[in-house]
Amino acid sequence: MNMKFKDKYDVIVVGGGPAGIMAALAAAAVGADTLVIERNGFLGGAATNSVLGPISPFHFGDEQVINGIPQEFMEQLIKEHGSTGHLKALDPYGSGAYLGFYDREKYKYVAEEMLLKAGVDIFFHAFISEVHKTGNKITGLTAITKAGSRRFTAKIVVDASGDGDTAVMAGAEYTYGNSETGKAQPGSSMFEMANVDTDKVYDYIYNNPEDFEWKSDLVPVREYSDRLKQHYFVAQGFKKLVKKAVEAGELCFGRDSVIVLNGIHPGSIHFNATRVIGYNSADPAEKSASEIDGRRQIESVSEFMVKYVPGFENAYVSVTSNEVGVRETRHIKGLYTLTAEDAGQGRKFEDVVSRGYFPMDIHNPDGATGYTEGKSGGSWVDLKDTYDIPIRCLIPEKLDGMVLSGRCISGTSEAHGSYRTQGGIMGIGQASGVVAGLCAIKGIEPRNINVKEVQKKLVELGASVWRDDAKKAREEAHAKECVKQYMSKRDKAITKKDILDSYFK
Ligand SMILES: Cc1cc2nc3c(=O)[nH]c(=O)nc-3n(C[C@H](O)[C@H](O)[C@H](O)COP(=O)(O)OP(=O)(O)OC[C@H]3O[C@@H](n4cnc5c(N)ncnc54)[C@H](O)[C@@H]3O)c2cc1C
Repeated sequence: MNMKFKDKYDVIVVGGGPAGIMAALAAAAVGADTLVIERNGFLGGAATNSVLGPISPFHFGDEQVINGIPQEFMEQLIKEHGSTGHLKALDPYGSGAYLGFYDREKYKYVAEEMLLKAGVDIFFHAFISEVHKTGNKITGLTAITKAGSRRFTAKIVVDASGDGDTAVMAGAEYTYGNSETGKAQPGSSMFEMANVDTDKVYDYIYNNPEDFEWKSDLVPVREYSDRLKQHYFVAQGFKKLVKKAVEAGELCFGRDSVIVLNGIHPGSIHFNATRVIGYNSADPAEKSASEIDGRRQIESVSEFMVKYVPGFENAYVSVTSNEVGVRETRHIKGLYTLTAEDAGQGRKFEDVVSRGYFPMDIHNPDGATGYTEGKSGGSWVDLKDTYDIPIRCLIPEKLDGMVLSGRCISGTSEAHGSYRTQGGIMGIGQASGVVAGLCAIKGIEPRNINVKEVQKKLVELGASVWRDDAKKAREEAHAKECVKQYMSKRDKAITKKDILDSYFK
């Protein structure tokens, strides 16, 4: 393969995470000549680099809210034996309504092939070091590579770097974490263990319900590869065992419970279990320290699992994150800042370009405890309804030539706690790509684009910009039938009884 890069592009997307992938595909779909610049040698961002488990729901209840290119990506992953598609959680508390398990290696491959097929250029191993401006307008970027620096010009830059690197370099205003406390959600060093007797783990969860903060079976709602078929479940707890090990001085980590869920391949368990607290991940020195802290926690938790938890007797650590998973850093100030009230109350906006649906999930920035400790702990706040993400959250307040994407868009820490999971981020990515592509082709600034044109294009791409009541009713009926079928085949399931009851009324 012979990669040649141009000096000029219509759209340059900084960062090839879930947001950047979708932004690049959407920009290309509207006809923009597009380049992705990514500092790693693969796509996926935290989803691959930080060894994430599932893609959290595209759904609010049973209504699929995220559609269009993100769903095409899921379809392609399913086709390549790389995903289960969205599985329904019998109890959504703690994990969300649906989870899509995926193979991270397939994720990298599928994303890359989709971008190449769409005609997008991908510049790997390149770190943005400089942003070029004329007045307040961004005109290009310089990337540092092993062979020195390389300068590009772009009509529109999409900042999908997660931390909002390019916006900050260009002088955008931002807040770090929660603007009142100055604290951000903690990161986690993720890992997986293989050679686990997952049936034994499930039995322990099933027989010790009081030991878990939350837990759920996951129900298939569509066909997927036979290679990936197994019993999927998720749980947070092992509290008795954790307490015993901590008291014996045999466990040292940043939480008081362990979240486990299946890895996509049989016999593997995924851990969202460590908590690296108090580090600013946009600060290189603090980030270095967080990696060491995270790795020590992985060692401690994995040894605890082998020694204390039934099913892990012969297990071993099969993969660890390349980089601490960073939940939250900077929120760039845009033309509008999405708030907790907007998200919580399900607020709708005329200039909607994507929709949010996930509960506001804030991991405790201060310490070990989970959702149960009131104000001093983390929080999980269910939404009244889906809410709209207006185009204004994607446009930096004082900069032209730039569209924000992914986790750095303009929102408060609480609102970010909702839109930050992969489904929400992919929806935002798709919208940012359409805005950037249209602006580049028309030669206008994002703040001047007619949002109706953006919405029209998003609908053409298959996005669910507005609720479709008939579709929602079909999805609810289908999910109910799937749960019924599932329960008729299983003699035991870990979930709240009242949720199951509601399915059989
Ligand atoms: C610990 C943890 C657990 C999570 N669990 C889940 C989960 O279970 N389900 C779920 O759906 N979501 C989960 N998430 C959220 C999910 O990871 C994020 O929603 C998603 O990865 C954010 O996507 P993004 O593209 O905005 O940013 P990122 O994924 O951070 O991607 C940013 C990309 O930009 C690149 N980049 C950054 N700076 C530069 C630069 N200066 N130059 C060039 N490239 C750059 C990075 O290498 C990266 O590829 C979790 C996140 C964390 C941290």
